[in-house]
Amino acid sequence: MDWTPIRTQHGNGAVEPNLRDYDAVRSAFSWASIRDELAGLPEGRGLNIAYEAVDRHAASDRADYVALRWRGNDGETLALTYCDLKVRTNRFANVLRGLGIDEGETVCSLLGRMPSLYVAALGTLKAKGVYCPLFAAFGPEPVYQRMSRGEAAAVVTTERLYEKRVAPLRDRLSHLRHVLLVDTDAPRDGNVWSLPRQMEQASTDFVIPPTDPEDHALLHFTSGTTGMPKGALHVHEAVLMHYMTGKYALDLHPDDTFWCTADPGWVTGTSYGIIAPLLHGVTNVVDAADFDAERWYRILESEQVTVWYTAPTAIRMLMRVGGTPKETYDLSRLRLVCSVGEPLNPEAVVWGQKNLGPPIHDNWWQTETGGIMIANLPALDIHPGSMGRPLPGVEAEIVKSTDDHAEVLSPGEEGELALRTGWPSMFRGYLHEEERYQKCFVDDWYLTGDLARKDEDGYFWFVGRADDIIKTSGHMVSPFEVESALMEHDAVAEAGVVGIPDEMSGELVKAFVALNPEYTPSDELRRTLLGFARTKLGAAVAPKAIAFKDDLPKTKSGKIMRRLLRARELGEPEGDLSTLETAS
Ligand code: ATP
Ligand code: MG
Repeated sequence: MDWTPIRTQHGNGAVEPNLRDYDAVRSAFSWASIRDELAGLPEGRGLNIAYEAVDRHAASDRADYVALRWRGNDGETLALTYCDLKVRTNRFANVLRGLGIDEGETVCSLLGRMPSLYVAALGTLKAKGVYCPLFAAFGPEPVYQRMSRGEAAAVVTTERLYEKRVAPLRDRLSHLRHVLLVDTDAPRDGNVWSLPRQMEQASTDFVIPPTDPEDHALLHFTSGTTGMPKGALHVHEAVLMHYMTGKYALDLHPDDTFWCTADPGWVTGTSYGIIAPLLHGVTNVVDAADFDAERWYRILESEQVTVWYTAPTAIRMLMRVGGTPKETYDLSRLRLVCSVGEPLNPEAVVWGQKNLGPPIHDNWWQTETGGIMIANLPALDIHPGSMGRPLPGVEAEIVKSTDDHAEVLSPGEEGELALRTGWPSMFRGYLHEEERYQKCFVDDWYLTGDLARKDEDGYFWFVGRADDIIKTSGHMVSPFEVESALMEHDAVAEAGVVGIPDEMSGELVKAFVALNPEYTPSDELRRTLLGFARTKLGAAVAPKAIAFKDDLPKTKSGKIMRRLLRARELGEPEGDLSTLETAS
């Protein structure tokens, strides 16, 4: 499909991107030089994520600069400076120590987007616990699964969530010794503590113990889009990646106000909703409320957000709501908008340019990679529909692999996206699944399980997840390509495309479509869309069937669950639903 490349422009030209010459920065790049931009623990005691994110700034002239600006559900706000954060995270680390939580033990948070979550995450890292965020909307079973597999020793949560989600499971959670409630004043039986009381009594001084860059820091569960969520373990060295990508992909400058809409219950909301912005000493906006288009536009306006990190599902929702945001709100400060999590339709990239100001810069990574790997960097032209180019220090190729060899394919060829091992935030293991972990690596490559191609200019194009690719009449059809084509029709808000077993063709391409508000399902619209897709894609690739849906099933992190569309269509078992959006 021909989408004209977009030359990126930067507001009024006042801010020069951190990365101006892609080739020059890539060839001169070394992780050692990134390490030099960070401080390291005093007296050569190692490298700790929380020290770099908080204490380093608290010891500098950034100490009184606002680190977190939080907006509550009911209009309340709270601003925490880097110095405030240092004091609170020190206290939290002392609370863990006081309760006897050892280094290397897992500490979970089960909290909405509230200040205590940020303090718990960073305080845990200071105390050298392994921080594992749990999405607050999880029901008891997903909570149990993650806490038991992660062998959580402590959980930080609210009274309500504790009663509903954790208390009924305590008998089964043999590792769980302590519960810290953020909204209770008095302790209770069973090592259920009031976090505010504990914090009050804890010292404001804390010396971060020696931290080896290889010490475990984070445990993130994957989204469960293709099956049972996997637990990916990350180490403190990942901070190099968080910092480097904050610098080059998110283009953070000291005066930026940054907002990441991803929930910190997931890897994006942790790597980029907590760590990366703080590493750069910027002001990080946190909104406790759920999606609401008007609220979001008001936040962009009133907080004067300059760099915004969001997701395709959110952008599609904004597109569906419609309106003329750029005229209605003052978005003139917005310099860069990035998106991750799912393929971003070219339509959405261009929508950003028309309606927000900046086009949307897609980028690609996964829980396992710990940080952004491939991105439409601010200084590079955007090819709408492309994920962009590998970050400095990241080597990506398209490969075809056997059990013991990965052959690098030529530009234009489709294959599996692979990353040369050794980047700092590479996951160091799948929790309790060593064999599965080993299987991800062939030669020096980490195999991502995503299919893609690289073009002559070095841009990467997402084709689909290996599990989702449809084989029809001898063709390999990418669901994303079909979904993107359908999305170009005014009626279509969202599309999920799957293969349905078919005697003649092997698999038949079927699309599930959610319509924009002003359209209603009809046979005529179905025929129009089938024809529209056929003209765009050709008969071999176009869907043969279209079903209308009010909404498509999505993971709690907002990804379309094609496996579920397919299972429901075929009346097959639905598999693990712990991350389904509406399940609780
Ligand atoms: P699971 O591994 O449990 O099935 P998941 O893969 O969705 O879930 P995540 O690690 O949250 O879990 O998501 C990473 C995946 O999301 C990538 O492997 C890719 O398939 C998809 N993805 C992320 N960003 C993009 C993007 N920009 N374009 C296309 N796909 C993307
Ligand atoms: Mg995955």
